[in-house]
Amino acid sequence: MKKFVVCFFAVMFACAGWGCALNVEKNAQNLCSYTANLEFDLETHTLAGEMQVDFINKTNSPLRELRFNLYPNAFREGSQQSVISLAKSKECYYNGPSFGGIEITKVKGERALEYEICGVDENVLKVNLENPVQPTQSTSVVMNFTITLPNISHRFGYGENTINFGNFLPTLCVHENGEWQEIAYHSNGDPFFSDVANYNVTVSYPETLTIATTGTCTNTEMAGETATKTFYAPAVRDFAMVMSEKLQVVSKEVDGIKVNYYYHDDLNFTTSLDTSVKAVATFNNLFGKYPYPQLNVVQANFCIGGMEFPNLVLIGDEIKNFDSYQMVIVHEIAHQWWYGVVGNNQTNYAWMDEALAEYSTALFYEKNGGYNTTYDQIIESANTNMQVFCTVQTSVLGKVDTKMNKSLAQFENENAYIYTTYVQGLLMFDAFSNLLSEKVVLKCLKNYFTTYAFQLVTPADMIASFEKTTSCNLEPFFNSWIQGNVVFAN
Ligand SMILES: [Zn+2]
Repeated sequence: MKKFVVCFFAVMFACAGWGCALNVEKNAQNLCSYTANLEFDLETHTLAGEMQVDFINKTNSPLRELRFNLYPNAFREGSQQSVISLAKSKECYYNGPSFGGIEITKVKGERALEYEICGVDENVLKVNLENPVQPTQSTSVVMNFTITLPNISHRFGYGENTINFGNFLPTLCVHENGEWQEIAYHSNGDPFFSDVANYNVTVSYPETLTIATTGTCTNTEMAGETATKTFYAPAVRDFAMVMSEKLQVVSKEVDGIKVNYYYHDDLNFTTSLDTSVKAVATFNNLFGKYPYPQLNVVQANFCIGGMEFPNLVLIGDEIKNFDSYQMVIVHEIAHQWWYGVVGNNQTNYAWMDEALAEYSTALFYEKNGGYNTTYDQIIESANTNMQVFCTVQTSVLGKVDTKMNKSLAQFENENAYIYTTYVQGLLMFDAFSNLLSEKVVLKCLKNYFTTYAFQLVTPADMIASFEKTTSCNLEPFFNSWIQGNVVFAN
């Protein structure tokens, strides 16, 4: 594959070490902000909320409306959006069908505003502004809502052990290419796309529950049996939380970052905390420092492995194999760099953060001994699995489509999605490393992380960033993988 690459100049590096440590507070200036007051009712599993959104128009045109993704509505009765694949449906809805959603009851600016629930499937809230908001100008809207959690072992829902609030708040659609990017839920992948923003969230809940969230707690009040906590999370893509009566927590600090491991069923909790800490330390060192003060790793009922949110990851408690459990911890923590800090459209380019999370996981095992897993084993098994996938797809469908740039709904099935984004993506970065050396790839990733921190990237941005670091023409190499012409590492 060397034929794809032409290097003109010696490799130049813009930035090395932690000299370019990211400053969250500085990056939090001039961002949209969400200030929410939430009240959780454990009996009904509902969350009543009022939220002020301070919006800054960063486009070049006046905007007459704001649009928000309403991800909880994918869980409502009659939803056409799939939240879980058929194969995993029974396991996730372990008590049978259950429904949730979000009901918007009022939206106001200076006075009441007109709004409608629209999108392809009631997945979008459209708010008509009283006056257009001009470029660089801001406007504020306040909305009231009630969120109902379904009984499902999912990122949004309550299960046997934890109550998971993932992607539950209305979040502004990204305004890109002159339009609001509305996102429909899908059982493949993580169908989310958002700009970083500042969150101030106050939540009241029964004091018997332990809570883990995005951000850090800035205030706690107790009144009878109700706890009220406020969390501040600057420059993050979303706000998530988990509550449970069963969770215990152990913590350790690394590079000035507090890592908390919440668990309810883990005899090896010290190892799980240790793996979390090592993952943060390893990725700090390889890619650039995690810019937030805290990271919560939470063992939760979640039937599809693990899930990343800003400053918080879910690790599925159904993963009984110890080695797999540790690997999921590492993969989800890697997403803090690839998704959390450097964001992308996860519906259209799911491979961007998944391939890098997988490659980062492989690097973790290369840099940290003492596990029953090595970098070489991971690559070897990825190669074998990819070959099996291609053989099976070809025999069943008569062909195999290995294009990586597809939206989540375009993959034939969940397997096709996983192999094409995770496995093929990992092999692509391994091949990149074989081509230019791991040292050069790490420089690429360090520069990519620093350059695009708190931003959204496209595949073209990623390739251009790597080309800038290496002074190599890398487009043919990456395009051959992304278009699915090359799928195995050699
Ligand atoms: Zn992932």
